[in-house]
Amino acid sequence: MKLRYYLLSLFLFLSLAPLVLFRAWPHSEVLESEFAEVHERHLLLANNLAAALERYYRDLVTTFDLLVTTPENWSDGSAMKPVLANLSVKHICLANWETGVLSSEISLEGKPCPTTLPADKLARLQGFATSEAVTFGGVVMAPSGENVIHMVRRIGEELAFATIPTTYFRELGEAIAFGVKGHAAIVDQTGRALSHPLPHWVAERKDMSKISAVQRMLNGETGVEQFYSPALKGDMIAGLTSVEPVGWGVMIPQPVAELHEKADHARRSSIIVYLIGIVSALALAYLVSLRIVRPLEQLTSAASSIASGKFDIPDLKRGTGFLPTELRELKQRFREMVKRLHDNIATINALAYRDGVTNLGNRTYLQLHLGSALDNAQSGEFMLIDLDGFKAVNDLHGHDVGDKVLDTVARRLCEVIGISRFASEDVENVRAHVEAHRPFAARLGGDEFAVWIPAANSEMPTDIAADIVARVGETITINEIDLKVGASVGVARSPRDASDLAGLIKAADMAMYEAKKAGKDCFVPFTPELMTEHLELRKLGQEIEEGLANGEFVPHFQPQFRLPGLEVSSVEALVRWEHPERGTLPPAAFLELARDLNLLPTIDRLVLQSSVQRMKELHAQGHRFGALAVNLSEERMASSDFSETLDGLTNLPFELRFELMETMVLDKIEGRMAWTLDRIRESGFALDLDDFGAANASILGLMNVEPAHLKIDRNLVSGMADGNIPERLVRSIIEMGHSLDIPVIAEGADTMEKVGRLAEMRCDFVQGFALARPMAFAELTVFLESRTGPRKTA
Ligand code: C2E
Ligand code: CA
Ligand code: CA
Repeated sequence: MKLRYYLLSLFLFLSLAPLVLFRAWPHSEVLESEFAEVHERHLLLANNLAAALERYYRDLVTTFDLLVTTPENWSDGSAMKPVLANLSVKHICLANWETGVLSSEISLEGKPCPTTLPADKLARLQGFATSEAVTFGGVVMAPSGENVIHMVRRIGEELAFATIPTTYFRELGEAIAFGVKGHAAIVDQTGRALSHPLPHWVAERKDMSKISAVQRMLNGETGVEQFYSPALKGDMIAGLTSVEPVGWGVMIPQPVAELHEKADHARRSSIIVYLIGIVSALALAYLVSLRIVRPLEQLTSAASSIASGKFDIPDLKRGTGFLPTELRELKQRFREMVKRLHDNIATINALAYRDGVTNLGNRTYLQLHLGSALDNAQSGEFMLIDLDGFKAVNDLHGHDVGDKVLDTVARRLCEVIGISRFASEDVENVRAHVEAHRPFAARLGGDEFAVWIPAANSEMPTDIAADIVARVGETITINEIDLKVGASVGVARSPRDASDLAGLIKAADMAMYEAKKAGKDCFVPFTPELMTEHLELRKLGQEIEEGLANGEFVPHFQPQFRLPGLEVSSVEALVRWEHPERGTLPPAAFLELARDLNLLPTIDRLVLQSSVQRMKELHAQGHRFGALAVNLSEERMASSDFSETLDGLTNLPFELRFELMETMVLDKIEGRMAWTLDRIRESGFALDLDDFGAANASILGLMNVEPAHLKIDRNLVSGMADGNIPERLVRSIIEMGHSLDIPVIAEGADTMEKVGRLAEMRCDFVQGFALARPMAFAELTVFLESRTGPRKTA
């Protein structure tokens, strides 16, 4: 759950909790307080009303008493009338107790009483005029139809009575109004209605004595009572009391429903108040979440972007207003942490993506940048650059100079494509560089470089490959030594040649390979034909492997002859591939590829093994000849089992010579190479320097190898003509060999004329088509026999 929602929920809960409590509490509580209030208020009102009635009662009694004891003062009664009107008394009469004959009266209305009281009325009045004191009757209907009560007193033989309409009670009751139509109720001492909210109850003098509250009033109690009101058809609560001297009841009722309504109203208002509270709480929570949660959210999103590999220092400065100390601290530490992470990453990037020698990107960086460009379907030119002649520089001048050469080449590449050297930010900015169509250069290892030029980069000159070849080819001066390396450049275009990283590198590699083949120091764009060629080569490679497994590689032998007598002095083993379909193939058809596929050591091992075996057979047949010469590749020399092979070659009945190519001996004269050469000599085998004169540093080779023989390169020999340079070179080589006491072999003597000329030059040995071609073992046997006749072993 998000912190923001968590906080909002918490605040919501906190603000809701009291509301829930309130929901449980208020109804009863509010109601109770309503009831309590009703108790007080209604009781008070009832008491006040009762007090008013009591005063009324006393005024009536006093006035009545005064009047009925002094009838002589009544005369016309006009002085009394205002008093009686004030007290709502209709009339006061005196009548004979026995007969009911009226003796005196004061009447407010014009209509006087009957002169003799009717018997029933007399009896009724006599019924409650029980003592000499003033007593009141219950409410009755007067002949006029209105409700009245009577006040009576027996005075000797006379009955005094007054008739009082209940108007005053009604008005008094109505004056204490409450609720919608309600007001106070007043009953007489028998429980009949004097004042009541229902007018017809008053008119009918409704007997209410069955109502519990009325009963309590009639019992003279004071208090609060709840009861069912048949009049209002509902539960009522009433404050009640009685007017003590007379027994009238006074009641201030109120429907209980009204109290509930009030309580409900109070609750409704409180709900509104709480709703306002909740809204404010939520608003507060929102504000708090802005203050607290937003910084945390920023940190979280910064952390997750770091987790996903984006190490930009996050911008956490926004919202710098009030912030709790802990958060401020956290933000600060986080920033520091990211900064350190950032620095570490930069270091790691530098280590992981930079080439330490040239300060270009390395192979990993190439994959990152070019991979990203190709993922974005960018088109462009990819070039693989292999330096020519770098190995020689490294070997002759040492690695320090070699490194400087690489660094110079890197600088020139950067100049040509217009970029600066690698910076660790480049790794983080790869995406930006790609989007900006920025070119880059990388060193892939050894003397191999790569360059990527996006097609959309309009600032690039059109012929970059040519520029690169030219710039790299310029003289490099290091420690005052002028050095030269060349560049073989393979160019592949994306997406034309390939649209994925591996495909593009492969295409450029094929083109570069082609540039090497085309004589180096040039560039070759990739073509589909190269691909076909490549595929054919691959097929051929597979065939070579199969051929090796099937024993299709066998040595042929070419004899060498001593000059001037032309006796067979030795044979050179030359490998041939007895291809099942294409017949016998010369080394030119497969050797280069075999070298690339690292199969040359196997071939050399097989040729040595089987040619030694063949020579042993010849020897067993009685053929005596000087030596077997075997070509030895540098790869074979470097293989770990070569030394072991040498150890296995013991007690050979002929001399074994290893022919080393002059160029290869030049390249590596120290370390393992020197050791292996010593091993060969120690084992008693001769080292011949092959192809002498083909390269340009022959003297070095001579000094380093101290060969048993010099073999003059076949191109020099076959190129000999009267007095031309090759001829003069051949002559000088022979002379040089002799001056060093090294016998000289001339190979490539393809005419007898050349053989003769070499003999004239006092060359020691000769090899060439004019005398014998390389031949299969069976032919060799025949050849040798034809020369010397079959020999049998003794
Ligand atoms: P190489 O060691 O200089 O061998 C002599 C080459 O000159 C042979 O070519 C041979 O056939 C050729 N040759 C001899 N006399 C004449 C001639 O009068 N005219 C012409 N035009 N050529 C002549 P091949 O057999 O084609 O071998 C070519 C090269 O392949 C060899 O040159 C050698 O460098 C390499 N090679 C041959 N066999 C092996 C082997 O078993 N191992 C290694 N590592 N290299 C081998
Ligand atoms: Ca050779
Ligand atoms: Ca040779």
